[in-house]
Amino acid sequence: MKGTINVQAENIFPIIKKFLYSDHEIFLRELVSNAVDATSKLKALSRMGEIKDDVGSSMIEVKLDEKKGTLSVIDRGIGMTEEEVEKYLNQVAFSGASEFLQKYEGKVDDAGIIGHFGLGFYSAFMVAKKVEVITKSWKDETAVKWVCDGSPEFNITKSKKTQRGTEIILHIDDESKEFLEEGRVAGILEKYCKFLPVEIKFGTEDSYIDDPKGAKDDKGEVKQVKKTVDNIVNNPNPLWKKQPAELSAEDYSSFYRELYPMTFEEPLFNIHINVDYPFNLTGVLYFPKLAKHKVELQKNKIQLYSNQVFITDSVENVVPEFLTLLHGVIDSPDIPLNVSRSYLQSDSNVKKISGHITKKVADKLAEMYKNDRADFEQKWPDMQVFMDYGLLTDEKFYERIQPTYLLKNTKGEFKTFDEYKEVIKDAQTDKDGNLVILYTNDAEAQHSIISKATAKGYDVLEMNTPLTAHLVQQFEMKMEKVNFKRVDADALEKLVPKENAVESNLTEDQKNTLTPVIEGIVDKQKFAIQYESLDENDPPMMITQSEFMRRMKEQAEIGGGMMGMGNLPDSFNLVVNSNHPLVSKILVEQDEAKRSKMVQQATDLALLSKGMLKGEKLTQFIERSVNLID
Ligand code: ADP
Repeated sequence: MKGTINVQAENIFPIIKKFLYSDHEIFLRELVSNAVDATSKLKALSRMGEIKDDVGSSMIEVKLDEKKGTLSVIDRGIGMTEEEVEKYLNQVAFSGASEFLQKYEGKVDDAGIIGHFGLGFYSAFMVAKKVEVITKSWKDETAVKWVCDGSPEFNITKSKKTQRGTEIILHIDDESKEFLEEGRVAGILEKYCKFLPVEIKFGTEDSYIDDPKGAKDDKGEVKQVKKTVDNIVNNPNPLWKKQPAELSAEDYSSFYRELYPMTFEEPLFNIHINVDYPFNLTGVLYFPKLAKHKVELQKNKIQLYSNQVFITDSVENVVPEFLTLLHGVIDSPDIPLNVSRSYLQSDSNVKKISGHITKKVADKLAEMYKNDRADFEQKWPDMQVFMDYGLLTDEKFYERIQPTYLLKNTKGEFKTFDEYKEVIKDAQTDKDGNLVILYTNDAEAQHSIISKATAKGYDVLEMNTPLTAHLVQQFEMKMEKVNFKRVDADALEKLVPKENAVESNLTEDQKNTLTPVIEGIVDKQKFAIQYESLDENDPPMMITQSEFMRRMKEQAEIGGGMMGMGNLPDSFNLVVNSNHPLVSKILVEQDEAKRSKMVQQATDLALLSKGMLKGEKLTQFIERSVNLID
């Protein structure tokens, strides 16, 4: 029988080829998943008792025949009757293809859309000049052969095939020869079919190798024997489809290695997701050890599957951004796949699924915190970037995780916010009733300030992720009467402002004498001069950087917050301790040269302790200091 495929576009094949240029390899995913569907349907019929005899092996075969230039996909599924071939291949499938063309004609530039539109059976024509389908239905009917060479005409004849199932033979076209290469095809199967639920065998027909036993032919040369191929390329029972109760810790870590053969680091822990209502969602998410400064590199490790068929590993719109730091697999038939990215974002199933994943992750963290606090603390450094990222970007995650968020102080102790407030409330509540939380981004560099602060009874936190500036802002916004201050934001006395603060004991005249001398020495654009009556034992001068200004600058640098501000200049305060004996000495000194030398030495010391004295200035400082010893 001959016929014409029912479609408006006269010549659909050149268009299919052109449109789908970027993602030709998905034809194999489409054909193999059709084969899996046909096999699953057969198994279902057998379970329901529709098929009485043993269904036998259900293995799917993918075969290459280099000589003939064909790639075949062979299944032992339900097959199709002649009527079904008519219906599915000529009408239904083709209407899918033409619908696609109508929808996306003219939008060919958007490779994203095209790449994610499954074209089903007809994607075979992206790589084949002729397609044969030989199929025998599970129903007692003669097998048929359908042939189409890419024109709208097709040809159906009877076939002698006796085994139930479908064989799809692609005669690969000249531009697509790559799909006859074993390595290339093996790669595609590895990518898309690795976890398909039916065993898939892949091999090359008619490939000959030296006889492994070394047998010789009449001419005395090593006999050539047909290569036996029994390569099963997939794992039909991936871990995420199993029940968590059946699985051991070792199972989870070996599956991690199966997913990421190139990663040697063990994950911190995992979350097994298993939901069937109100949507179907399974998967295993692994929590990797997150190196603080390599966050970007670690994204795009989650693989998205639909019924065990690999779809994509860029899940940005399916899960909240901070979750893209996790690794593992998400499998849901409810995530619409053949649609554009922007559509995914607004899809209600996707939203629910993404909300569910966030909740699962937060619950798991809370459970770990509750069950084993010591272990949780030990894992904290590897989780912190993730926590910070999540707290900042996801309101719900913030609510759930805030009670278990850990603060680490310079003594290495971990405290939750509630615990920490108790620790510091006496010493660190300021005159307006605000709790002042002190932190350092570099305990080594800020050592002298920290030791003074702790001596005064203050506690200092270590906060030094790339997100710290944003994070402290977030905490201040969410919590009442809490201020964060980096220890070098102010002179020690002023970090936690108290009622009994002493005013500067210098007169205006004295200040007016001193200011120009200091300004003659330091860059006055960069340093604002402040007079404070601090402790006699504090240094005569010191450098601070206002918390507000510094945070603005940091936020501008890492983006977000004050966007578009580019590189803000650094601005510092030069704090003069008016209670220090040296300051009184400077004031009474009449010899101008001597006086500026004293000021110079004092400001250099301030710069030095902040790590800001460099280059020529440092060299001069050292020379001057050596002379002072003399
Ligand atoms: P979809 O799989 O999305 O329905 P396809 O274009 O891939 O669209 O296939 C159209 C129809 O052809 C399928 O729904 C199925 O009924 C039939 N079909 C395709 N491949 C096979 C196969 N290997 N065995 C049996 N039926 C098949």
